[in-house]
Amino acid sequence: MNFTMNIPGLKGVIPTRFEDVGGVIRIYIEVERKAHRCPRCQNRTSRVHDYRIQKIHHLKWFERQTQIYYKRRRYACSCGKRFSEKNPIVQRYQRTSIEWNQAIMIRAVKGKTFKETGENYGVSATKIVRRFDQVARSEIRTVEHLPSVIAIDEYKGDTREGKYQLIIADTVTRKPIDILPNRYKKTIKHYLQKHGSRYRWSSWI
Ligand SMILES: [Zn+2]
Repeated sequence: MNFTMNIPGLKGVIPTRFEDVGGVIRIYIEVERKAHRCPRCQNRTSRVHDYRIQKIHHLKWFERQTQIYYKRRRYACSCGKRFSEKNPIVQRYQRTSIEWNQAIMIRAVKGKTFKETGENYGVSATKIVRRFDQVARSEIRTVEHLPSVIAIDEYKGDTREGKYQLIIADTVTRKPIDILPNRYKKTIKHYLQKHGSRYRWSSWI
């Protein structure tokens, strides 16, 4: 079997074999061989140096845990440099696919609990907490000015800072803008003052 299919999450790769090993789906993939530009001397090469199998955690398929076995090709350049080929599914030194990372980023924020999200994605709650922190730090904490109307959603994160966290979201796009470590009044008050928002307390806090 050697064909190109547009399987969601596997675009641009060649699946060579599918296996079901004890209820876990294994997808064996490769990437088409083609000339790559050497990162050292910028010359092009398509000379294969070797292959390594990289095991990658992927999104569930038909409710089954799924692993990708990626036969990663390395090229050799005439300058002596050896380097990995480009591929669309996994970043360097990662054990999880790009799709998986994206899904987990969203679910870490929007899922009900870290534990449940972890179970759904076949990883520990601790890992989800780490992703949650990553989202909070990288994408979300750059807010300077809040929109005039914001939505505040509760999130049961069970972190050291508190049992519940609050997600500040844009009411129009529903995208999270920020995450507060707990739902104490002083936390919210301080946050809103810092961002120059006028606010009124409502009874739900
Ligand atoms: Zn080179």
